Amino acid sequence: MEDVVVLGRETISAGRYSHAGENVLTDALSRPLRDLRISVTDRCNLRCSYCMPRDVYGKKFSFLPMNELLSFEEIHRLSRLFVGLGVRKIRLTGGEPMLRHRLERLIEKLALLEESAGRPIEIAMTTNGTLLASRAQALKDAGLSRLTVSLDALSETTFRRMTDSEISVGQVLEGIAAAQAAGLAPIKVNTVIRRGINEDEIIPLVSYFRNTGIILRVVEFMDVGTTNHWKLDEVVSSREIVARVDEVYSLAPFAANYQGEVARRWRFVDGAGEIGTISSVTQPFCGECTRLRLSTDGKLYGCLFAANGEDLRATLRESASDLALRQRISGIWLKREDRYSELRDALSSDKGERRKIEMSYIGG
Ligand code: SAM
Ligand code: SF4
Ligand code: SF4
Repeated sequence: MEDVVVLGRETISAGRYSHAGENVLTDALSRPLRDLRISVTDRCNLRCSYCMPRDVYGKKFSFLPMNELLSFEEIHRLSRLFVGLGVRKIRLTGGEPMLRHRLERLIEKLALLEESAGRPIEIAMTTNGTLLASRAQALKDAGLSRLTVSLDALSETTFRRMTDSEISVGQVLEGIAAAQAAGLAPIKVNTVIRRGINEDEIIPLVSYFRNTGIILRVVEFMDVGTTNHWKLDEVVSSREIVARVDEVYSLAPFAANYQGEVARRWRFVDGAGEIGTISSVTQPFCGECTRLRLSTDGKLYGCLFAANGEDLRATLRESASDLALRQRISGIWLKREDRYSELRDALSSDKGERRKIEMSYIGG
């Protein structure tokens, strides 16, 4: 029997329209629900100043008590319901997801979802790579299908300054090599460039990952959360990145892999592979945003820049039925009209600081 979503006095069939025989749930701006990002922990062993600075206005960054985290059973149950509503990709993130005890067990359980869905479900992870070297094979064996490693510098000094830690770049590079050896592919490396801080790392990073099959993606520095003292002057636009790389290695635009891909692809004309640029600030892509984000403590957010989430953990722990949870999630998606990046300029001229959730908690 088809589920029915009840919104106030309105009753809407959960599948809004059918595409290639599949029901697709669309939000208020006609965007289909496709991706779920899950923050499995709000803790991290690095302290990138643009994400989780060690001191926040003189206080320590505070973390959730363990009993507030969603359990693996809760994450699995919600993921199954999301898959039933059209989600095709689940990305584990955080905080540093590899700090979550026995993460491989969760991946194993999530990887089995595609059997019940009867269609491919990608299980992806974004990690800082520091704990990858000894666990890459176990992650692959558990069923991880895609891996993104974040790395903002190759110089030890810049890396340690940006991550405010004693961990070495070598540890991350070993992790990436181990992931490649384990057959995790495609591997992507995400780099956030900040003007005056790691601009000089662009060409070394591009040079390092050319000819390796690993795709470097340069991400614009975003105004997520309220602790990173974001300034527009520190954003190096994708346009500038491409121009700088093109001076050294000729680039040509490359077709997107699929409709709605957020990264723009650029291939090296000499055949050495490709890079990507993610222009969240200068060329927002909200119109293509098919994501929901589940925070460490089970709140659901329609946007990286949202102020409030919908508390699914409370509903789960009240022994709600699958039907009730599905209706709740569908109702949230049907009403979703977030497009913060497209409205950034208008919103920033509003008086007063807008409350935004921190990225480590909501999942980057
Ligand atoms: N700890 C993992 C890692 O660093 O890959 C996963 C979580 S982290 C929040 C996910 C991604 O968000 C990282 O690639 C990081 O560079 C990115 N990120 C964090 N704060 C950001 C900001 N202010 N602007 C752009 N990207 C940011
Ligand atoms: Fe940790 Fe990732 Fe945030 Fe850096 S970006 S502090 S590695 S969660
Ligand atoms: Fe999606 Fe919000 Fe980012 Fe726009 S600003 S792309 S709606 S997460």
